[in-house]
Amino acid sequence: MNELKGLIDCHSHTYFSPDSSADPEQMVERAIELGLEAYAITDHCECNRWFGIDYYNAEPNEHDTYDFGKDFERSLDCITKLKERYSDSINLICGVELGQAPQDFDIANKAVGDDRLDLVIGSIHELSNHPDFCFINYNSMLRRNIYMMLEDYFKEILKLCKWGKFDVLGHLTYTLRYIKGDYGINVDHSIYDDLIAECFKVIIQNSKGIEVNTSGLRQKYGNSFPEYKYIKMYHDLGGEIISLGSDAHRVEDLGKGIEECKELVKKAGFKYLAYFKNHNPEFVRID
Ligand SMILES: [Zn+2]
Ligand SMILES: [Zn+2]
Repeated sequence: MNELKGLIDCHSHTYFSPDSSADPEQMVERAIELGLEAYAITDHCECNRWFGIDYYNAEPNEHDTYDFGKDFERSLDCITKLKERYSDSINLICGVELGQAPQDFDIANKAVGDDRLDLVIGSIHELSNHPDFCFINYNSMLRRNIYMMLEDYFKEILKLCKWGKFDVLGHLTYTLRYIKGDYGINVDHSIYDDLIAECFKVIIQNSKGIEVNTSGLRQKYGNSFPEYKYIKMYHDLGGEIISLGSDAHRVEDLGKGIEECKELVKKAGFKYLAYFKNHNPEFVRID
């Protein structure tokens, strides 16, 4: 089929992530079928829940899972073996989606130091003492509290950027998937533009990149994370390292939206996409 020949998908999950039941080998087979130039498995590792629940003295609830340290080990072990097995057929990248690094920098430093890793996506899925953004009922929140939460989200992103030990910043504006998409609440996002520009400047100074996450295109939100305006802002501030990821949690979502987002990235002025080998960007020409 080779419908995505020369393109990359650098964000996907397998059954080593609590919210996916995808078989890693089937994911790799699908990536080969799509003709991807590079493909990354990036299972979740939430730094704030690296250990078991007892370590944190936390009350169990219906959505929080723990022991990501164990998932991390299992995922990397599996990807490393698949890399070897499929070395003749695909450029497989051993990655991780590292969540909430600013909530435990010791764990984050330990995780990113694992020499099996090619790629670290730095993400924020929740703020300290708050549930994951996907579990919040935004209808019960006052509008000004939503604005304050968003400000805290971008401040947390800035902390993550200043730490800077990731390769690409994951799905910036992920919060809008729920607030705008699922709850249909319109927020004036432009009030955060200065803060977002500051994040980009720090990323650029550290020679790191951002990802354009295509998952929002197949959700109610209907846009990439981040949307075009911020892709362009990153470009105009001097950003050069940009990656694409479907964030597929199922085999059938692999590569979805990659072609569309490549066009957005091109429109913003980029001539290359980047994927990572041993944390070094490799560039794929797109014009
Ligand atoms: Zn994520
Ligand atoms: Zn993800």
